[in-house]
Amino acid sequence: MAARQAPAPALGPGATIGVLGAGQLGLMLALDARRMGYRVGVLDPSPLAPAVAVADFHVAARFDDAAASAALASRADVVTFELEHVALEAARAAGALAPARPSVEALAICQDRVREKTFLREHGVPTAPWLAASSAAELERAVATLGMPCLVKVPFSGYDGRGQVRVAGSADLEAAAALGFERGPLVVERLVPFASELAVLVARGVRGERRAYPVARTVHDHGILVEVSVPAPVPDAVADRAIALAESVAAALGLVGVLAVEMFVLERGEVLVNELAPRPHNSGHYTIDACATSQFAQHVRAICGLPLGDATLLAPAAMVNLLGDRRGPVRLAGIEDALAVPGTSLHHYGKAEAWPRRKLGHLTALGATAAEALERARRAARALRWESLPLHAGAPGPG
Ligand code: AMP
Repeated sequence: MAARQAPAPALGPGATIGVLGAGQLGLMLALDARRMGYRVGVLDPSPLAPAVAVADFHVAARFDDAAASAALASRADVVTFELEHVALEAARAAGALAPARPSVEALAICQDRVREKTFLREHGVPTAPWLAASSAAELERAVATLGMPCLVKVPFSGYDGRGQVRVAGSADLEAAAALGFERGPLVVERLVPFASELAVLVARGVRGERRAYPVARTVHDHGILVEVSVPAPVPDAVADRAIALAESVAAALGLVGVLAVEMFVLERGEVLVNELAPRPHNSGHYTIDACATSQFAQHVRAICGLPLGDATLLAPAAMVNLLGDRRGPVRLAGIEDALAVPGTSLHHYGKAEAWPRRKLGHLTALGATAAEALERARRAARALRWESLPLHAGAPGPG
């Protein structure tokens, strides 16, 4: 597919943004886009998906439905993605009718762990040592070569720790092989003894201009992001290196929009890239409350060809995810105590149904320092709890 060359004129308010996906990222993107005067169409299988309630129109379809993607794009001036797990045929069908930002090529790289890691290697970006394995025998050899413990990951559609098996002994190989090789080779990665994890968000515009957000510290639990605090407590040299890596990856991808780069920092300050997300990201939710331009407004500006906004952090901040702890419809209790904690704000995604560890909302807190902000966000989160709603009681809407 020919690369799109000279950028078209900027899309102003009144233009329509088509978004593949209508989860919480789509919700927050749509809210900022609408605030700026854009129309928003979303494609998602579920009419109850969080962004549907705030979108101008909804195409109810799966992410592999090329005809439905084309229908979305035919009503849009630009198409974007709130998730990578969109079938490439569907992304291409949309991209044939409206500019896709990020490009389908960038999406193709970031949705496949093998392609992503190969791309990083080709561009000299350091990662954890890894090998691809297409069979149980190759898997065993890869683990032997890399040394245990390893993490074995599915190439597609793994997120929030799903589709991963830790291999610490030969007894774990069977469970790792059971992930399956049907959708392409598994990624076998050496488990790196990181000192901390970082995330860098960088926006890149249609003319290649870039804005990086400050480096955030992230904490995961069993592969799922639980806490973010910013600025990250790392030496300037590490922060500079992390930002330089993220900017170089965004440029190499030719990305238009926001890119999140998740990284590991080793004891001696070495920075390794773990994963790319060519879209707004959970690690950047704090930008809504703490930055001059949120990651969502920035994404809108980038994909619409507008000047990028100021990514300055206005106050140290922290975010704690609110994860489900049960199945079924729920309501949030303890809100009075949580919001009595100074500097906190609540983001509730209004999902119709909970399940254990499902992302249902987040809390952001500001503070004089990142440590104070984190303490506040944790304190507020401790005051909250989920309560089951009777079945068929109806789910609260996002409003
Ligand atoms: P991923 O699905 O690749 O984003 O991984 C989710 C989380 O699992 C990361 O944020 C880390 O906490 C952990 N993890 C993934 N890969 C590795 C690795 N090679 N070494 C150590 N921890 C890892």
